[in-house]
Amino acid sequence: MSRELSNWQELLDSFTETGVRQGKVSKIHQTRSNNAERIKILLEDEELRVVLLKWMNHQVKRQRSLEAAKCFRETGNRQFSLKDYTACIEMYSQSILSCPVENEVELSLALANRSAALFQLDLFEDCLQDIRVALMKNYPSHLLPKILTRKIKSLRKLGLMEDCQTTLAELEASLMHLQVSEKNKIKSDIKVMLMDDQGNENTQDRDSEFDDRIIPFCGENLSFKGASTALDIRHSVEKSRYVVANRDIMAGETLFVEQPNALVVLPDFQTTRCHHCTRELPLKRYPCLSCGKIWFCSNACRQESSCYHSFECGLDSVLNSVGIAHLGARIVVSYGLETLLAFLKDTEKVKKISGIDSSYDTKSYQVMFHLVSHTERMAPDELYQYALTAAFLTLLLEQHTKFFQLASQEDRYLVGGLILVHICQMVSNAHAITEICALDENSERQERIATAIYPSASLMNHSCDPTVINSFQGNTLIVRAIRDVRKGDEVFNCYGPHYRRMRRTERLEMLESQYSFVCTCEHCCDTNTEDFQDVIYSFACPSCNGSLVNPSGSYSPAQFQMTLCRSCKTQQSYFTQLQADLEAVSLDARGTEAMDQGDIMEAIKLLTKCVQLRKRALFKGHPDLGKSADKLAQCYAFIGNYEECEKMLRISLIAVEERYGRYSIEMANELQKFTDVLMELASSRNQDLRDELVRHLEEAMFIYRIHYGAWSHSYKELQRKKIHLTTLLMK
Ligand SMILES: [Zn+2]
Ligand SMILES: [Zn+2]
Ligand SMILES: [Zn+2]
Ligand SMILES: [Zn+2]
Repeated sequence: MSRELSNWQELLDSFTETGVRQGKVSKIHQTRSNNAERIKILLEDEELRVVLLKWMNHQVKRQRSLEAAKCFRETGNRQFSLKDYTACIEMYSQSILSCPVENEVELSLALANRSAALFQLDLFEDCLQDIRVALMKNYPSHLLPKILTRKIKSLRKLGLMEDCQTTLAELEASLMHLQVSEKNKIKSDIKVMLMDDQGNENTQDRDSEFDDRIIPFCGENLSFKGASTALDIRHSVEKSRYVVANRDIMAGETLFVEQPNALVVLPDFQTTRCHHCTRELPLKRYPCLSCGKIWFCSNACRQESSCYHSFECGLDSVLNSVGIAHLGARIVVSYGLETLLAFLKDTEKVKKISGIDSSYDTKSYQVMFHLVSHTERMAPDELYQYALTAAFLTLLLEQHTKFFQLASQEDRYLVGGLILVHICQMVSNAHAITEICALDENSERQERIATAIYPSASLMNHSCDPTVINSFQGNTLIVRAIRDVRKGDEVFNCYGPHYRRMRRTERLEMLESQYSFVCTCEHCCDTNTEDFQDVIYSFACPSCNGSLVNPSGSYSPAQFQMTLCRSCKTQQSYFTQLQADLEAVSLDARGTEAMDQGDIMEAIKLLTKCVQLRKRALFKGHPDLGKSADKLAQCYAFIGNYEECEKMLRISLIAVEERYGRYSIEMANELQKFTDVLMELASSRNQDLRDELVRHLEEAMFIYRIHYGAWSHSYKELQRKKIHLTTLLMK
């Protein structure tokens, strides 16, 4: 283990390699279900401990030196002169962190400089706090007038006029040592400032943007926090806990509106998002005054975060290095040592799984403790790596924080065991908080901002054909039904593999390896029907237009091979359709080329032939049919022939619906395109078309609302279109 290891995963892999040889990996695995014991074994391994500590200290890099402090401060000064106040606050904070405690003057200079930057960002309270500390730390007397002037300005901004008077007197006194010219300059500055009207502070409410987003909710379930009254928790030996509908539920109904129990912002977003609530940082942002490296959207978030950040402060790089395991440590420090130890002593609570015969309170530690972790089903090397990470985090809390100040050695192992439990839970319970980010005028993309735990929504089991869809409003998880659910039916989430997007074998493999279970959903169990992916990419049956699945699984079936159509039960030649499609492939390529070269008429000629062939040869849901029809529609739109364009879009609409489903986001995008064309035709055509247009607009709006919420760009765009249409049709 002599080589330089750059990241945590490499270190883990190398530990595991030697651990397997020395039998340590199986030893950790064998110690069945006693997690504290696992941590104890690892941390009492002297050799291991030494390497962990070495790596930790390398990461924490807390060398204090006057040189470093000065260097950071000077960098900060350069950034200040460039008006990059956010960056310089970080530099001054680094300077404060690196400064040797006994060097008060250097420390006071960094504090004073940081106060100037905070003042520029209108963070007057933080500014005053830095000034107070700087003045206690032997701040050079010849610089006093400057810092006192800033203090007066901040006090005035905050309306603290009494303190302002006292400081004015201090300022007068500090001017004594100055030369007359300097003295006069400061005095006239103060005069101007005092004459200035102080009534121009604008403390606008930054929450207003969020407040007008109304969350629909049909009654909160008091015994199942965050869930709607339509849902109940059930329990069985095979399934453990699961969620059922206690009445009929309609597609679009909101089933969960849940706050995260804990969340960690992903490293890429740590400079643009609030560390506590994930909200985008406003111009006026609040730094942690100890480390200066993390930011909050408000003073409230900063205060709320102190229950965990006081232990994480200054350790951000080392915590980021362990990835999602950070969230495991976060849960533990958030609840605090006392709560954790009290919980572990309460054997009733440790045994009793919450939600069965008791209400389910997502804030209680009992609920967090009982989220499924599948520790016993994990592979030995996987469990070993999680245990090592938990041991490392325990060591980190012990060496670099006051978390374990009042804990015995045994207590530390117990808490380490809890960190391990939570790390293991992440695999099945962690949710990525995503946000819809606009790419351009017309398209949006989901971006992963943070990882979080939602204990209530976590109780839903997986299905490859789920009943719900998840979206986020800030960090609030909103779960809506994506189709009707009958009373008594189980409500399913999708953990990733969806039958419309992945083959059965791949889905089963992924669920097995990642979540250690065998999916028993309809699409995974029924091996008599073709895989959905095969159906979508199938040919059309010449006699009934049903789907004709490739009999050999390859694209070169024997020329005269006949295959059975599952819809009309007749024998059909697969080869004829294959030949037709091969011709269509070349027509599509030539049509696309003509399109790119701007020869629209030629493109229309070629693509029309292609679509005709594909309509005969391919299953109606085949993506190639949809794509060719869509291209041809574009050509027609280009020359203003909306009648033909409409016909083509109808073909691609069917293909999209077959492939992605009626309530998919792809369907909404396609409907949006279709309604644009219908709008062109609406004024010249009959009432039926107008009715259809309104219906499609409403369908698309419905889909956007359940996927993204009524505040999304796409939904609002369609809403505007609908209003425009209504006024247009009234004329
Ligand atoms: Zn916040
Ligand atoms: Zn901090
Ligand atoms: Zn399945
Ligand atoms: Zn048929």
